Amino acid sequence: MAQSYDVIVIGSGPGGYIAAIRAAQLGMKVAVVEREHLAGICSNWGCIPTKALLRSADVMHTATHAKDYGLTLEGTIKPDVKAIVARSRGIAARMNNGVGFLFKKNKVDIIWGEAKIVKAGEIVVGKSTKPVVEPQGPVPKNTLGEGTYTAKHIIVATGARPRALPGIEPDGKLIWTYFEAMKPEELPKSLLVMGSGAIGIEFASFYRTMGVDVTVVEIMSQVMPVEDAEISAFAKKQFEKQGIKIHLEAKVAKVEKGANSVTATIEKKDGSSEKITADRMISAVGVQANIENIGLEAAGVKTERGFIVIDGYGKTNVPGIYAIGDVAGGPLLAHKAEHEAVVCVEKIAGLPNVHATDKSKIPGCTYCNPQVASVGLTERKQRSRAAISASAASPLLPMARPWRLAKIRAWSRPSSTRRRVSCWAPHGWCRSHRTHPGLRRRHEP
Ligand SMILES: Cc1cc2nc3c(=O)[nH]c(=O)nc-3n(C[C@H](O)[C@H](O)[C@H](O)COP(=O)(O)OP(=O)(O)OC[C@H]3O[C@@H](n4cnc5c(N)ncnc54)[C@H](O)[C@@H]3O)c2cc1C
Repeated sequence: MAQSYDVIVIGSGPGGYIAAIRAAQLGMKVAVVEREHLAGICSNWGCIPTKALLRSADVMHTATHAKDYGLTLEGTIKPDVKAIVARSRGIAARMNNGVGFLFKKNKVDIIWGEAKIVKAGEIVVGKSTKPVVEPQGPVPKNTLGEGTYTAKHIIVATGARPRALPGIEPDGKLIWTYFEAMKPEELPKSLLVMGSGAIGIEFASFYRTMGVDVTVVEIMSQVMPVEDAEISAFAKKQFEKQGIKIHLEAKVAKVEKGANSVTATIEKKDGSSEKITADRMISAVGVQANIENIGLEAAGVKTERGFIVIDGYGKTNVPGIYAIGDVAGGPLLAHKAEHEAVVCVEKIAGLPNVHATDKSKIPGCTYCNPQVASVGLTERKQRSRAAISASAASPLLPMARPWRLAKIRAWSRPSSTRRRVSCWAPHGWCRSHRTHPGLRRRHEP
């Protein structure tokens, strides 16, 4: 007979593991199905290992600018890329083990394999069909295996994977995704980054600090297209000062592969084109949700533009089936997945006063140098909704902290509706200027 649960979560990323643990804390019988690695993309290939790489870049940057801080450093600072990657992979592995420990502590069963929904209330788990990206450690102890399992509530938290453009498909050798970019065997001399969203810019920042000749090509009119235009323009200047070459309103139209390099044809908005040759290229043109082969069609779960459609509590159109995290749409951020997990499970448990997730209030941060953080609607979006009549950009000149941290300015862009604050600051420093005296609200949203 099939083993039965109150909740089965498919996927153990930040959405899945938080949902499972919270459900267990609320007294439910819970299992998580995972096919590859505990803790998902975030801990294994996303947030955590990139931030470990970027920490090495920070240290490198600070050390090479030691003089600015009144320090004399003798000799040269050189990156040891093998050691940098080993540190990053080690931290990822530790996170992975940590989630296993939390499952055990909270009595969450782990089912090892690939899950497919048969119908509401029932899943079948088989062998993973996904090629593994790197040899994984041993399967966690005491996991359950292949078979049929039933649950009153099934939460889909299967995450996302890199998106590929037709004709420019990553090959893992010359054209990388974030998987290969995360663990280079050696530093390329030159690198072309296609896409300047958070993932593209963070890798551009890391590799440039390590001395690589970096070029970024972005089809939109600004780097980090989700940020306010003014903040992006300001950040772009800083990236260029560091030596990153940036082409805006330009697209990679074609890539020819050589023995150990790629040559990309870049087409620009003004009709001109240019060829750029680089040792390696990173394709950072976004991600696509893992909605295939998990039984959504059979169960009748509605998807739209490649994501599962949910309400503010993670409910899909099929009673008993829920979705959270990247698979349920943007913003594609770990803390959004975690928040949706808690809201979804608390609603299932019938807790009072559970608020639907408000996606307009989710902060985001790009951990390049300097860092950019924001929350709320951009000014452009507010204007398109006629919700704004005034906004102000405010260099945070009177603030001592950014100056203490580095010789760069911080900047905040609060808007008149107080819906969004973007800011640009060195090394993780961001401040919400909600009560900035120079701002006057004229319209409430
Ligand atoms: C390079 C990079 C850097 C990032 N940096 C940040 C950052 O700084 N801050 C931030 O907030 N976000 C960041 N993100 C985004 C963040 O990683 C994701 O938003 C987050 O991981 C989404 O969590 P999730 O639980 O929805 O899915 P995932 O973390 O993708 O986990 C999904 C899990 O489901 C498993 N799975 C899939 N299908 C099945 C199946 N059929 N059966 C069983 N298991 C299955 C997968 O193996 C995986 O473990 C970054 C992403 C990348 C790629």
